[in-house]
Amino acid sequence: MAKRFAYLKFRCTGCGACCREPLLPLTDDDVARISQRTGEPAQQIVRWVDRDGIDLDDEPEAFVRLRQGKRVMVMRQAHGRCRYLGADERCSIYTSRPLGCRVFPLSPTFTVSGKLSRLGLIRITDCPYELDGNLGAATLRSLYALYDGKRTEYHQKVAHWNRLQLGRRRQGSPAQAASVFLQFLGLPTGAASRAPGAG
Ligand code: SF4
Ligand code: SF4
Repeated sequence: MAKRFAYLKFRCTGCGACCREPLLPLTDDDVARISQRTGEPAQQIVRWVDRDGIDLDDEPEAFVRLRQGKRVMVMRQAHGRCRYLGADERCSIYTSRPLGCRVFPLSPTFTVSGKLSRLGLIRITDCPYELDGNLGAATLRSLYALYDGKRTEYHQKVAHWNRLQLGRRRQGSPAQAASVFLQFLGLPTGAASRAPGAG
């Protein structure tokens, strides 16, 4: 049993490797929290990638219909690394970081009754972790419930938006710009707001 869930002892060593290469999909909740922390408008926090730019075939609900095509909202990078990774290799927005950063690289499976049944690691980057921590199954369950809940809420908003854009297409109008989608999510963009579906 203890061996099966060895990663419950996972401890991040803070190397910053996962803050450099992998693209990080965001939810509106992530962007709102970061914007509140930094005072930056949403456009400065996010960028948009297409199907060729991110391996997200198992999450089609994350693709947003925009004027430039279907795109996923990810963390904007600077010089090939997350824009919030400091020169000291530490996260400069640690307490406001996205939920995707908080759950990485653990990949748990829970039973319907909420019992941990499997615990693996996502191996998209070299992660020099240690196994001398003490996570606890209950902590992991709460964190994943929050992570999954926020992603589901965001995907519902994306689905609503995508239906509006399909309606526009049926009327011969192009899909709207990313900035209108960010306003639709209620995020600060620094621009006058425009109604989704209009113009
Ligand atoms: S790669 Fe692993 S050890 Fe390094 S910061 Fe990310 S989670 Fe922590
Ligand atoms: S927000 Fe912080 S923890 Fe997340 S990728 Fe950026 S620097 Fe790393």
